[in-house]
Amino acid sequence: MVKDVVRCEHCGAETKHPVTKTIGGRELNFCCTGCLAVYEFLIEENLLEQVKAAEQVENKNQVS
Ligand SMILES: [Zn+2]
Repeated sequence: MVKDVVRCEHCGAETKHPVTKTIGGRELNFCCTGCLAVYEFLIEENLLEQVKAAEQVENKNQVS
């Protein structure tokens, strides 16, 4: 059985032997563990930014 070529979620490279990881309920494919690590790092950073933004909104509400 031939596996379809998939695209790396991070860099867009095509690969027949992806590193697969389920993140946020979605099964994502990466060309290598390096791309997977960077992608996970960026997602964590993104979540941190969202938390910070939410905290800033809370602080503004407290001041007023
Ligand atoms: Zn990649």
